[in-house]
Amino acid sequence: MELNAEDQKSHYSLLLSSMDRDFLISPLGNQVKIDELEEKTIGLYFSANWYSQCQSFTPVLAGVYNQLKQQNAEFEIVFISSDEDQRSFDEFYGTMPWLAIPFSDLKSKKSLTERFQIEGIPSLVILDPCGNPIQTEGVDLIYRYCDRAFPFTLERITELEAEERANHASQTLEKLLLTNSRDYVIGQKEQVPISYLVGKTVGLYFSAQWCPPCVKFTPRLVSVYNNLKEKEEDFEVVFLSIDRDEAGYLECYRAMPWLALPFGDESVRALSRYFNIQGIPSLIIIGPDGKTVTKEGRNLINLHSEMAYPFTQSQLLFLQEREDEEAKSYPRYFHHVGHRHILNLVSANSGGGPFICCECDEQGFGWAYQCIECGYEVHLKCVRGVDKDNPEKEHVTTVNAVCARSNGLME
Ligand SMILES: [Zn+2]
Ligand SMILES: [Zn+2]
Repeated sequence: MELNAEDQKSHYSLLLSSMDRDFLISPLGNQVKIDELEEKTIGLYFSANWYSQCQSFTPVLAGVYNQLKQQNAEFEIVFISSDEDQRSFDEFYGTMPWLAIPFSDLKSKKSLTERFQIEGIPSLVILDPCGNPIQTEGVDLIYRYCDRAFPFTLERITELEAEERANHASQTLEKLLLTNSRDYVIGQKEQVPISYLVGKTVGLYFSAQWCPPCVKFTPRLVSVYNNLKEKEEDFEVVFLSIDRDEAGYLECYRAMPWLALPFGDESVRALSRYFNIQGIPSLIIIGPDGKTVTKEGRNLINLHSEMAYPFTQSQLLFLQEREDEEAKSYPRYFHHVGHRHILNLVSANSGGGPFICCECDEQGFGWAYQCIECGYEVHLKCVRGVDKDNPEKEHVTTVNAVCARSNGLME
């Protein structure tokens, strides 16, 4: 039986070629025949230079790619650009060591985006050597496991997850913070042995000077820290810097009364991977037994200040019950300053859920005031009553009462 031309094409050329192109381009500007990808695991990398998350992921992916090349892994990446013009493409592709679909081929870009239902970038879709998509969350896998994720099969990922669970189960503060060359953390004036931290509740604070939300959050954490110290609680914080240079690190650390890892310490990157840190500021709470209590330290501090301490399930349950009790006396509806619609009191059980507060830009969950019409949502502690001259005088009293109560609760 004779095969027709379409049948003779490999699965990768069916996927990646076009009517007038049977090649991809390389960083050196060469054309690489798509047939050469045969038998390889492929990552389709959807990305664009105008998006900061793509800019920060690309060097991470490049590091992993180079490592896999050194290990002679049968792996290739193909960049599918959403850049705005040829110049931006050239600039961005100039930072990548892998292959690409030419920028001018917008048709292929469109069909691949549709075929793999890409809804956001950066996105890394992994195809097995037969061309079947096996992972759509490639970005997450690269961040979590680096080159160890290869060949990205379900078996491999299951294995890595089991290993990760075992590591977390046997976690201790020493295992987290000790390295071969360092058995201490630093204070503002001197070195402090890691043994000083053992048995305490410890917050690992990932932060950086260049990150505005960090600069905003640090003073809140300082105030909570000082209050807990005043009460002689066994609480300590260790700063893990994501700063790009030492000047930023020093400036950032100057505002902090707690301990830190030295600038450029190798374990910061490993810990950020271990805790799967996706954004900063991030506050991981380690309990006195060395196990992770919560990764939501930042949100809990924003919601409850030092009342969140020691961040345990039982403390959170206590706070939740107290809030449920207090919410019973809150007005069901009211007018918040600066919003034209009436807001509704909601809880997690009545239409509420995780949200970003429109007043303070921080996360919230549980009780909130929510606008049914436009989705505007604020923390109870962030609502402000309408102006006294407002006709809805009846509301004003209740709203002010709410503010007083919720401020008391939150501060
Ligand atoms: Zn708020
Ligand atoms: Zn509204």
